[in-house]
Amino acid sequence: MTNLTHLNIAQALEGLKKKEFTSVELTQAHVKATEEFRHLNAYVTETSELALKQAAESDARRAKGQVGLLEGIPLAIKDLYCTKGVRTTASSRILDNFVPPYESTVSGNLFRDGAVMLGKTSLDEFAMGSSNTTSAYGNVISPWKRNNGDNADLVPGGSSGGSSAIVAARAAMGATGTDTGGSIRQPASFTGIAGIKPTYGRCSRWGIIAFASSLDQAGPFARTVEDCALMLRSMAGYDPKDSTCADRPVPDYTAALTGNVKGLRVGIPKEYNVEGLSPEIAKLWDQGKDWLKSGGAEIVDISLPHSKYALPVYYIIAPAECSSNLARYDGIRYGVRAEGESLNDVYMNTRAQGFGDEVKRRIMIGTYVLSAGYYDAYYTKAQKIRRLIAEDFARAFEKCDVILSPTAPSAAFAIGENQDDPIKMYLNDVFTIPASLAGLPGMSVPAGLDSQGLPLGLQIIGKAWDEETVLRTGHFVETAANFTAMPQMLMKKAA
Ligand code: GLN
Repeated sequence: MTNLTHLNIAQALEGLKKKEFTSVELTQAHVKATEEFRHLNAYVTETSELALKQAAESDARRAKGQVGLLEGIPLAIKDLYCTKGVRTTASSRILDNFVPPYESTVSGNLFRDGAVMLGKTSLDEFAMGSSNTTSAYGNVISPWKRNNGDNADLVPGGSSGGSSAIVAARAAMGATGTDTGGSIRQPASFTGIAGIKPTYGRCSRWGIIAFASSLDQAGPFARTVEDCALMLRSMAGYDPKDSTCADRPVPDYTAALTGNVKGLRVGIPKEYNVEGLSPEIAKLWDQGKDWLKSGGAEIVDISLPHSKYALPVYYIIAPAECSSNLARYDGIRYGVRAEGESLNDVYMNTRAQGFGDEVKRRIMIGTYVLSAGYYDAYYTKAQKIRRLIAEDFARAFEKCDVILSPTAPSAAFAIGENQDDPIKMYLNDVFTIPASLAGLPGMSVPAGLDSQGLPLGLQIIGKAWDEETVLRTGHFVETAANFTAMPQMLMKKAA
């Protein structure tokens, strides 16, 4: 039998259909890989037993001819998605003992379509971060190493770092992420896999623990664009339980992967040529333009003049919303409680002990920008600029169909680097945050390696609801880049 963990989802579905192997066998191979890669600390909770049970049920369904879109495919679920009866922590001490009595709509959609759950992946606490170093359960380690022999442990990106690390390690075929300002695209870029954040409202947020409600979106990670398309089709769709979830038909995203970019107008925003952009990344970006041009696409210069305000605007709006969303963790209704002499003491002790430093920093910033006297100066102003950023994109999309940019300004850094400087950490998302503020779909596709042997991604941003063109462009870039590199530890295993 072929190495089952090296198949992608589309190939595995084919193999299952042809009865070359069963979902139980496929899942067993991934459970074994989960154990082998435990040192990456990608999971908060492994659910191997549940996975094998779900796989057996899937095989039974398949035998009866009931075959869902992702029938029998083992996936990992970010531990921000509430999973019925399975501990869900948001990687925070404050939810250490939280077992949801309900299933998030998106994970429920995946199970409805036959997916199998390997476990709940670690994240930056409450999805706040870019390195998966703020989890209460420790750092997640990327399966990648630099080729300079320093053997430093690298970050898998964040906040969905457990998901990106485990998919890159080929211990899960795909995983869910959430992206508020870049948490799917940046970790995908850091670990050499694909990931898409759909349009805001494409997937239901119901049952996904809220960070910043006007920005949070669910999306998939997988090793190919086609697999992302398959997963997104299952995850997306109208849900009356989320009033911001759009009542729109979900297209067959795989049908959009035509391989044809003839006549496609690809916008290059001049403002994304930020100071300090590494020459290697600039080169890859040029390479991306050349690939698209050789496929018959037209490269057009565009301007997104308010881009420079995106980070400051995000770091007002996201903390403002988080300070409100996280007010519910008071030790009374959810999770862990620290005792105290009065009710106020219970609140204060619970929150002091339950939240980590980054979460506290954001709650404080958010409370400040929403406070009387500062609300207009910060929050209202940020909302106005957010509108201008969205209008920049609307204007740009009169001239182009998609936008091409780097996903992140650097390759993965070592654990601990950037840690003492929150602003430097926040800069990771300069290219991803503008599209988040505008609610637009964005995807990262692995496109090359830097001189240290680390993956770099290219980002494709699309018009609202036009995930199909994003995926088509991503698929074209993926094919042109022919990214076959794997983390060294996997090559050793294969050898
Ligand atoms: N890195 C960004 C932040 O820290 C984005 C996180 C996310 O998308 N969840 O807020």
